[in-house]
This record gives sequence, structure tokens and C-alpha cells, in this order.
Amino acid sequence: MHATLGDTQEALRELAAAVAADLGATTIEALPPAGDADRAWAALNDSGLLSLRADGAGTLELVVCAEELAATLSAAPFVGAAVARELWPDAPGRTVAALDGTLAADAWGATQVVAVVDGGLEAGPAAPVGPTADRSRVSARIDLAAATSLGPVDTERLERAELVAMLLLAADLVGVGRAALTDAVEHVKERRQFGVAVGTFQAVQHMAADAHVQLVGARNALWAAAWRLDHLGIEAAASVRRAKALASEAGRGACETACQMFGGVGHTWEHLASVRLRRALVSRALLGDENEQWAALAGVAPSRTPGGLADGEGYDLRDDTTEAGFRADLRAWLASPDGQDGDGWHQRLAGGGWVVVSMPPDAGGRALPVTCEAIVTEELGAADRPPPPVIGHLAHALAVFGSPEQRADHLAGMISGTTRWCQGFSEPEAGSDLASVRTRAELDGDEWVVDGRKIWTSDAAVADWILLLCRTGAAGHKGLSMLVVPTSTPGLEVSMIRTAWGSEEFAEVTFDGVRVPADAVVGVPGQGWEIAMSLLAVERGPADIGWISRFRRTATRLLADPIAGARPDVVRAAAWLEALDATVATTLTARTRGNHDTSAGSIDKLLMTWVDQWLHGAALDAGGLDALVDPGDDLELYLWARAAGVFGGTSQVQRNIVAQRLLGLPRH
Ligand SMILES: Cc1cc2nc3c(=O)[nH]c(=O)nc-3n(C[C@H](O)[C@H](O)[C@H](O)COP(=O)(O)OP(=O)(O)OC[C@H]3O[C@@H](n4cnc5c(N)ncnc54)[C@H](O)[C@@H]3O)c2cc1C
Repeated sequence: MHATLGDTQEALRELAAAVAADLGATTIEALPPAGDADRAWAALNDSGLLSLRADGAGTLELVVCAEELAATLSAAPFVGAAVARELWPDAPGRTVAALDGTLAADAWGATQVVAVVDGGLEAGPAAPVGPTADRSRVSARIDLAAATSLGPVDTERLERAELVAMLLLAADLVGVGRAALTDAVEHVKERRQFGVAVGTFQAVQHMAADAHVQLVGARNALWAAAWRLDHLGIEAAASVRRAKALASEAGRGACETACQMFGGVGHTWEHLASVRLRRALVSRALLGDENEQWAALAGVAPSRTPGGLADGEGYDLRDDTTEAGFRADLRAWLASPDGQDGDGWHQRLAGGGWVVVSMPPDAGGRALPVTCEAIVTEELGAADRPPPPVIGHLAHALAVFGSPEQRADHLAGMISGTTRWCQGFSEPEAGSDLASVRTRAELDGDEWVVDGRKIWTSDAAVADWILLLCRTGAAGHKGLSMLVVPTSTPGLEVSMIRTAWGSEEFAEVTFDGVRVPADAVVGVPGQGWEIAMSLLAVERGPADIGWISRFRRTATRLLADPIAGARPDVVRAAAWLEALDATVATTLTARTRGNHDTSAGSIDKLLMTWVDQWLHGAALDAGGLDALVDPGDDLELYLWARAAGVFGGTSQVQRNIVAQRLLGLPRH
């Protein structure tokens, strides 16, 4: 799997960005009717952007270019011209396509419009329309009275052209939304109210973070859909519709957010924020906004990835040879007696070599690409087996920061499940603000003496060991250390706490003069914060915790139901699941290339939480009163999904990270 642009695709994106920078409108005065349409057509032609398809480019390449042109508010009719060439590969000169019925909404300087009328292709003069709501592009209609028939169109070609048009409009929405948000973020870094930059206000940071995460998800879904269209043909129609709907929601949403972030000036005729919003409205409405797409997607199963092996260096969601071999071996193991569900599942899974496969061999793994971790969760989910144990983040912490002795003593047992572990970070007075942890460890000779309380510690009742974040020095994060503590040590007590869904899985853990050897410290004293942050970054990557396959099962079940599958909330949640899936694929690809951006895990965590909550909220609603009078899995899954917005760092904390570390907004 290679869910990122290859070098050639990246070079094309850069070329499109350069053309877009040259043709874009940076001021209101530069919008049509100002500007030079002749120059725009010449630039599209000379750069090769007009002949991309003829030169062998795929739909993903077209999509990448469309996003760049939209981001600069370019009026150059790239989308109109590209769709015309889908319908009519030999279309001459300044021909654009009608993107919806007879309306060519992207037709600046076009002389001819092609449109499908009663199943036949017509080419006719471009008759001016407007001005429309869109102030950055120029529309035209085909003059049918003067049109010439080009004959009937092959249905598949027609359907494909419409899907390409949807994707390019989706790219336009992502591009315009991205640019709107970028501008607004820069504005709030400078704009001051109440004596501070307004970008320091959390209300502003959180709306920017939400818009950003939605755009990232929509764009990843869009790239996946474009790639699928090239590999599955019109069978990818549902994936394309989902991408168009997601981009409509995210693109318009980002433009609206940007206008809000600009305050009064964002609502003026003179400001580009409102121009971007207008463009988004038109791209969203063309070929169906999200509401129309949800209706068309009722009961449609989740998208599939085509078979075969990844080829070339470009974007590709298929397995490469290592991944395919790994998947085949795992499937064979799942068909063997060891691979059947039942007692000792964790130990058998580990014995088969299927746990923490991406870790180095000396830490108990197989040094496989991290994508193989995702394959494990995917195949286990598909085979209806329990997920792999949630220990990747704990094993990571010990493998990276532990001493050779700690690695030797603990990793094998942790991975094989012969010893169970829990994570003791949160305290009654220190949740989101982990740096204020009070549980204290004092060195007394060659022993640490621990006193304090931990709370919400998952699996504490069954754990043999606790990875404990505690204070060994002064206040603040520099005074924190990480210890490994056996839960059987005298003075350590576990009191169960019942969850909202009725299970007994987390607990309060008290430490009263608990003594552990001095070498129980992981790393060095004072390194606790660094270890905790590294661990949380892994915990926040959904790829490692295998929930996507659980979400997929829920989505597939709901969509297959004639009543539940037609609900817009179900269809929408299933579409966002594809955005999550595509985003995780991108994160995994980055990690296989050694790029482990810890802050980016917050995007995955937020998206994962939203999908969990939307999907399982919709599932509970679909069950109606019955699901509450006779409660079952749907209530439990819903309540668990609500908790997803808290454990591993709350959604608000993730928004803070996205806003401050990824968008660069200032701290208060
Ligand atoms: C099911 C479950 C399992 C858990 N398992 C574990 C575990 O195994 N080990 C462990 O250590 N912990 C665990 N936790 C605890 C979890 O990590 C904490 O609950 C979480 O970090 C929030 O801390 P808190 O509960 O103290 O809430 P608070 O931090 O008090 O938050 C209360 C509210 O204030 C908001 N808030 C707080 N700070 C900010 C801020 N800076 N900006 C904006 N909003 C803010 C929060 O978003 C939240 O809405 C678990 C929790 C749950 C629900």
C-alpha cells in the first residue's frame, strides 16, 4: 500500500500549483470579468494540463490539479475542459463540458460546449450565462439551436465522465476550502481583540481544527475514490459519490468557518472569503450535494479495494508483495486449528507471530512494515475473530525507552499475553493536564517508594504490571518519571469502577508505600513526560488498535438492512468511515517511510472518534425504542463511542493539538 502521491504525481501537483499561482486571483479586482481568458487557455495548453488524459494521466492526477487551481480561485476552466475530453477525447480547442444538464459552470473563454442531450452528445456554441452566484468562474450554456450532434454516447463512457466530473468538483471544493481556511488561520494569528491575537481563543482554534480534520478526511477519501475509478471503472461509483458528498460537506464547511473566523470583513463583497464560499456553493450543488448523494447511496455497501498487487511508484491502495505474502500467510493461519476463536486466543495469536509485527525482532516483532499491523486487524475483523491485544503502545514505550534488562524481562510476556499490563497515567486531579500528576515516587536507598492514586485504569484488575507515570522531581512535566510496577506489590490496591455500559473494565489504583527497585524506572528519571507523549501518539493512531474493522462490520450490517440502510445518518457515517480508512492508509504510508508525526495522530483520533460516534449513534437510533427497552450491543457500542471522545486524550485536547501544532495557532 502506498497511499500518497508518487514522485511523478507530486511533480505534476507542483506544476499545477505553479500554473494556478500564475492564473489565480489574489484580489477582488482580478476576478472575472477582469483577467485574460486567452492567457489562461494558453497556460493550460502550454503546461500540458489540457492534454493530461491524452498523455496517459489517471483520474487522480486530474483531481490533484483541480484542487490546486481551485485553491488560487483560478477561473481557468480546467474542470470544464477535462470533462469535455472525457466525453469527447478529440475535443478541439476551447471546448468545455456542461457539468450538469446543459450548464457549463466552468467555461471562461470557451467557444464550444459539449452536452449530453437525450443520450446523444451535442456540441454547440457557448452561450453566456450569468453572472451566477460564483464570482470566480464564468458559466455558459450550450446553444442547442446551433448545436451539432456527435452521435450517441456509449453508456459506460457517459457514466464514467459523470463520475470524473463529480471527483473534479469534489477536488474544487477541497481546494477552495483549504485556501479559505489557510487564509483565515493567517488572519487570526494577527488579528487582536481583548489584547490578544484572536487565534489564541479556543473557540476559534476548535472550529479551525474541525474544518481542517474534515478537509483532510475528505481529501483522502477523494484520492482513494479517484484511484478506485481508474482500477474498478464504474463499479467505483459509490466511492465517487461518497467523495463528492464528503467534499461538499467539508469544502462548504471550511469556507463557512473561514468567513466566521474573519468576522465582519469575511461577510463583505470585497473579501475573498465570501468569493470562496460562493464558489463552494456552486461546486457543491453541481451533480448533487451531500443530501442528494446520501439519498442515492441508500443501502449501498462499503467500497472495496481491487485485487492484484500494487504496481509503480504512485498512489496505490493494493498490497505490495511483502504485504500480500503476509496477508496470505495470515489467512492460512486463520484457517488452521490454531487460528480458531477460543481459549488462549491472545497467546495463540502471538505464538503465530501476528502481534506487534512491525516492531524489531529484538523487541519481539518481525520488523515488517507497519501496514502489516493494519492487515492483522483487517483480516481478524473480516474473519470475525477477536482483535489483536491493545498493547502496541505499551510495547512501543518499553521497546524504545526501556533498558536492555526491561526489554528482556517484559516484552516477550507482554506480547505473548502471559503477563498483562495496564497504563497508569490519569489521576483524580490530573486528567487532560497530565503534567500535574501527583502520585509520587521517592528514592529510598535502592528502592522507589510510591504513594498516590490513579484512576480510570483500564484492565487494572487483570493486569500483572502497571506502567506508572509518577512524580519524582519538581512540579511540571520535567519532574515526571515512568516506572514499571508489579500489581502484586504490597500497598497497591485495585478498586473496580463500573462503566456507563455496565462492564467492570477500569479501576482506581491506590499506592500506599509501594516499594519497587530503583531500576524499575523506564529511561531515566525525568523522562516520564517524553515517554508518555510518545506512547499516546501511538495509542492515538487508529491503525494500531484495530477499530476500523469493527466500524466496518457495523456499517456493512446497517447498510444491508433495508430500513436502517436508507437512513441518511447511517449513509453519512459510512461515508466518513471511508474517509477515516483512507486517512489511516495515508498515516501508515507516512510511517513506513519513517515519518511518524506525533501530532498528526490527533487527526486520526478525532476522525476515528467522530466516525465511532456518528456510526454507533445512527445504529442506536435505527433500533428505535426497542433498542432501549431491550438493550443490547447497540446501546453498549453507542456508550463506548461516547467514551472514545475521552480516553486516549479528549477530543478537545486533540483539537488543541491540531490547532496549535498543525495549524500553528498561538497558545493563550
Ligand atoms: C473508558 C475509559 C478508559 C480509560 N482508560 C485509561 C487508562 O487505561 N489509563 C489512564 O491513565 N487513563 C484512562 N482513562 C482516562 C482518560 O485518559 C481521561 O479520562 C482523559 O484523559 C480525560 O481526563 P479527565 O477524565 O480528568 O477529564 P478532564 O481533563 O477533567 O476533562 C473534563 C472536560 O474538560 C475538557 N478539557 C480539559 N482540558 C481542556 C483543555 N485544555 N482544553 C479544552 N478542553 C479541556 C475535556 O475535553 C473534558 O470535556 C480512561 C477513560 C475512559 C473513559
